[in-house]
Amino acid sequence: MTDRPNILFIMADDHAAKAISCYGSGINQTLHLDRLATEGMRLDHCCVTNSICTPSRAAILTGTYNHVNGVTTLNTPIDNRLPHVAKHLQAAGYQTAMVGKWHLGEGAAHEPTGFDFWSVLPGQGDYFDPDMIEMGKDIHTSGYATDIITDKSLNWLNSRDKTKPFFLMCHHKAPHRAWEPHPKHKHLYQDDIQIPDTFDDDYKHRAKAAAEAKMRIKDDMTYADLGLVQPEGGDEVGTPQSPGNLNRKIPNPDDVSDLRLIDKDTGEVFTFDSQEALGRFKYQRYMKRYLQVIASIDENVGRLLDYLDEAGLSENTIVIYTSDQGFFLGEHGWFDKRFMYEESFQMPFLVRYPKEIPANSLCTNIACNVDFAPTFLDFAGETIPAYMQGRSLRPLLNGQAPEDWQNIAYHRYWMHRDPDHNAYAHYGIRNQRYKLIYWYNEGFDLPGTNQGGEDKEWELFDCQKDPLELFNLYHDPAYKDVVAMMTAALTDKMAEIGDIPMH
Ligand code: CA
Repeated sequence: MTDRPNILFIMADDHAAKAISCYGSGINQTLHLDRLATEGMRLDHCCVTNSICTPSRAAILTGTYNHVNGVTTLNTPIDNRLPHVAKHLQAAGYQTAMVGKWHLGEGAAHEPTGFDFWSVLPGQGDYFDPDMIEMGKDIHTSGYATDIITDKSLNWLNSRDKTKPFFLMCHHKAPHRAWEPHPKHKHLYQDDIQIPDTFDDDYKHRAKAAAEAKMRIKDDMTYADLGLVQPEGGDEVGTPQSPGNLNRKIPNPDDVSDLRLIDKDTGEVFTFDSQEALGRFKYQRYMKRYLQVIASIDENVGRLLDYLDEAGLSENTIVIYTSDQGFFLGEHGWFDKRFMYEESFQMPFLVRYPKEIPANSLCTNIACNVDFAPTFLDFAGETIPAYMQGRSLRPLLNGQAPEDWQNIAYHRYWMHRDPDHNAYAHYGIRNQRYKLIYWYNEGFDLPGTNQGGEDKEWELFDCQKDPLELFNLYHDPAYKDVVAMMTAALTDKMAEIGDIPMH
């Protein structure tokens, strides 16, 4: 019993793999996160089943898809009577804790259950001096959220019953919008960040959803997102982010000569000589703040790894770093997530467990966030309950992919045309070569937004020949057989997991 591994599950919110240096993009340095890759394994195809916060968290906790756990959108909190991985580990003798961003609902029916200790941010939480809910009580904290979440995790690790193994979910709020770096990291990234090849995407050759999404850096960033003073009143301050929302978007006028943007902290004034320069300013400002926020995560992951070293726990602790989904960092001109396109579909996933996982190893098999819970139970030596729909990743992490490993990921996004982002509802599958997406474009349980009426569309991408996903091949005769094969695979996958096609 005593050598059952501890599990330290660290998850960020909206952290794209591209913003972790071991993934190779070269836009930032994350020395402590990289340690997990050099001392363990990097997964290159870990997919989210619904690229949005709350549903991803439910899939991770329960090991089930969202049509099963009921957490399909941001507005469907978890029923906390559901069985989930922490409850199973707790029953098996693990000490369990949940610290940081929960975002699965509040109040007696939705707050965390199955944890010996929990201290969570209400909703999205604040970057500075966040209020928290700790074991059902409202508390106030002072400091920076990423530091505080780590402090509370370390305090719990120090005070836990050390005769038992632990399962700690340490969930950062960062780097969710609106990005607020710690003052000590504001000097980072003075040089401009490279602009993605698809930043000026014209959205041709794709389903209508791409052009319709309100996730564009040029058009849809708010003053708050970029740490700028929002002017008072008048049309010139930009349209509201959504009806009734006080956050306004920074305008993107053809004539930028009158536009003045002001840093909310320093008072620095920014002016522009072209619309293109304004777009580039927004991108750079976004990326630098995003990466500065991540610098604090990296530093705090280092503190947790140091603790494990000093406490002699590194050998017998499985450490995971992931994010609830990926994020667009200017690809296709976007920020945000929601879509099954690669940047938001792929989750970073780093895992270290020296007893079983070879150092500096790489996994290219397709994994999914519903696989996490079965994986934890497998490592703990527990039976994986039949209701869980994922499969243990343990053999993959050992470098032994089973012959019958499916290498298919299913994604479904339900929040058709939410007022803030106007992302269309869709489902589909990806295998190691192709991606099939069905834009069924129907609303679901979002009052006032069940607009529907858009044409349904299909997309097929050849991820090998077109990794940037610029050309929909669904109607290309040369891909007729691939379309048939992927359509059959989608039908099979939906039947397997019990989701119902939207014809
Ligand atoms: Ca998220």
